[in-house]
Amino acid sequence: MAPQPSLEAKSPYELRIDLGRGVADTDVRTALATGDMGFLHSFTTGSAVDGPGVRVVAWTAGCQWRCLYCHNPDTWTMTNGIPVTLARATEELGKYRHGVRAMKGGFTLSGGEPLMQHRFAVKLLSAAHGMGIHTALDSNGYYGHRLSDADLEQIDLVLLDLKGWDSERHRHLTGMENGPTLEFARRLGERKRPIWVRFVLVPGLTDHPDEVTQIARFAAGLGNVQRVDVLPFHQMGRYKWERLGLTYALGDVEPPSTEVIERTLAIFRNEGLTAY
Ligand code: SF4
Repeated sequence: MAPQPSLEAKSPYELRIDLGRGVADTDVRTALATGDMGFLHSFTTGSAVDGPGVRVVAWTAGCQWRCLYCHNPDTWTMTNGIPVTLARATEELGKYRHGVRAMKGGFTLSGGEPLMQHRFAVKLLSAAHGMGIHTALDSNGYYGHRLSDADLEQIDLVLLDLKGWDSERHRHLTGMENGPTLEFARRLGERKRPIWVRFVLVPGLTDHPDEVTQIARFAAGLGNVQRVDVLPFHQMGRYKWERLGLTYALGDVEPPSTEVIERTLAIFRNEGLTAY
């Protein structure tokens, strides 16, 4: 068997496939039920864009959505990830505990969709919290109902992806309903758990001002959104679609213009939100 790649990657754009293929289905089920093992694409360090300060990010494998613009389709399949025990992931994280605290950063669990493995996610975030590390969960929110109120207390910040407002457009863009995501956002608002909204700006798909206005009004009404990150679409994940033999629908889409980015930021700011 070929040696497994290191848990640490230079970036999540490294293509990783079939790394958990040898794991039996029953072991996958046990891992999901207990949270004592998870499937990770990688750990990366030095991120300045996945929450406050400089952060260590663990990228989980497994996502039930199929966003047309997904940058990491190799993370859709859980068994593309490296099977990692909770103890090993916690040990890896422990290496960075002093560094991230010194840089006012923390630990972010991203993906894929981390809540596909919610028990592992909660245990790993709780372990980080226990080390005094600031914790963030980057999620599409669809499985937010899997987290108890006590679980939410282990998460200092939710980076919540709001991908669209109109339900038909959202289904076209992601393959899924946005109702559960909005419900999770409302719950976080009621419980006053901080959110940073992430909004991917894709010309022709998510840049219509009416659509952005609806999302901005919703986010502003929650009362707990500390900032909004408008993420301009780019083509860095395109090669993964091609390597995985997937049909990529956005091959001709250009990144948004400066004008469209500024217009979108202005819509969020007009609702009283801090947007970058
Ligand atoms: S939710 Fe994230 S990981 Fe899942 S398909 Fe969409 S962009 Fe990709």
